[in-house]
Amino acid sequence: MKNRKDFVADAFPFKKDLEGMTLKMLEQHFKLYEGYVKKTNEIQTKVETTDKSTANGVYSEIGELKRQETFAVNGMKLHEVYFGHLQGNGIPAGALLSMIEKDWGSIDAWKEEMIATGMSARGWAVLAFDFKDDRLHIYGSDAHNVGAVWNAATLIVLDVYEHAYFMDYGVSRKAYIDSFFKNLDWGFANTMVTKYGLDKAHQG
Ligand code: FE
Repeated sequence: MKNRKDFVADAFPFKKDLEGMTLKMLEQHFKLYEGYVKKTNEIQTKVETTDKSTANGVYSEIGELKRQETFAVNGMKLHEVYFGHLQGNGIPAGALLSMIEKDWGSIDAWKEEMIATGMSARGWAVLAFDFKDDRLHIYGSDAHNVGAVWNAATLIVLDVYEHAYFMDYGVSRKAYIDSFFKNLDWGFANTMVTKYGLDKAHQG
């Protein structure tokens, strides 16, 4: 790819513990994110020079690079939303709140589905605006590149991998999810809604 540039990891945004999440846990988690950025760059660099003539569905270098590229890229992108919207006051607001109320009837009904998705997924619960029907959907994902839905914009991203909470919570995933909502920055999510004109496109 002629115009490729290396991705640069976001700066670590936290200075102290969040409500229910220690700085130590966030620091460790952030290192995993930085790893995804590094591996994305490494994979995309190798794609440029690998021998494409040996492509093979059972095993080939290009095949493995393409398989792991989606894991690394989604690992990078999902964590950028997750860490980006973790320093708020948790109070639902703005255009996104109105869109949720239209699509679910109430914020509580939406939250119930988010929590249930987070409790049952093995990787992520994602609130996405899907351009197929111009409304919001909650998608569950069992790994960065399993369950990803194309042509949809990710707005709220809940990481439910054990690494996201085990240090502070052990197996108590529900308590961690409650903390996630308490720290959620709705302004961050609303910025994406406005940036992409999703409030205008919404067909709720
Ligand atoms: Fe994570």
